[in-house]
Amino acid sequence: MSLSPWSLGVFTSIDAGLGVHLDVAKDLGVPSIQLHTPHAAGRTPQAAEKFLRQIDECGIELTCVFGGFDGESYADIPTVEKTIGLVPVATRSARLIEMKEISDFTRLLGCNTIGLHIGVVPHDTQSREYADVIEVTRQICDHAQYNEQNVHLETGQESADALMDFISDTQRNNLFINFDPANMILYGMGEPIPALRQVGSHVRSVHCKDATWSDQPGKTWGCEVPLGQGQVDMRAYLTTLKEIGYRGPLTIEREIPQDRERQKTEIQHATALLTSLRKEILGC
Ligand code: MG
Repeated sequence: MSLSPWSLGVFTSIDAGLGVHLDVAKDLGVPSIQLHTPHAAGRTPQAAEKFLRQIDECGIELTCVFGGFDGESYADIPTVEKTIGLVPVATRSARLIEMKEISDFTRLLGCNTIGLHIGVVPHDTQSREYADVIEVTRQICDHAQYNEQNVHLETGQESADALMDFISDTQRNNLFINFDPANMILYGMGEPIPALRQVGSHVRSVHCKDATWSDQPGKTWGCEVPLGQGQVDMRAYLTTLKEIGYRGPLTIEREIPQDRERQKTEIQHATALLTSLRKEILGC
């Protein structure tokens, strides 16, 4: 199956994560999904086969599997620093093993991309802590390479400058970016459109998500809002994606699993907005 440029997609979950369930993706009629990894018990060959059958019946293509770990919490920015990704030392080696297992499960799903929030990378690039995070990222990339996969880092927890330095320091040619414009605002890490221009050469997948700035950027969360109602200028976002030559899927993310009906309705509105902007900007 090959997707047309800027095919719409939606972020999906099975038994973990904040995405919509597959039946909603089917109802929305989107041709692609990204998937938050299921828990370990759900990462079996049988589960992979069943999932592939389900998406095949819906005519949906899986474009990326995102890693995620027990114990992660997005409660507030200091908690993110303590709990997310491969940065926290106490859980690092166990999560490295698990990320490799997620890569193996992704291979069973026939998908060539894994994604993750690596965590809040230490700012001192000369420090031992920074070198250790580089090393664990290399190990993930090398395992993914063995599985013929690319690794996409989700944006938001670093500025564009810091992210490009980190990718360069990792020295792996299968390390790319999943750009999320709303995260730049939510975490207070910079204006999303200039950031997208800056990291554009490494963007291989994107999230379509919207947000408003915090009154204390970088200290407290901004607010995630329905697409088109926040401070990501969606027309400028898509125009810039065109400028950088991005032709991959537009994957809508709306992280309000506590209200599944509203989540579905708002994603429906997002698909309408993106379809109209795509026609205007890409002409299809
Ligand atoms: Mg995202």
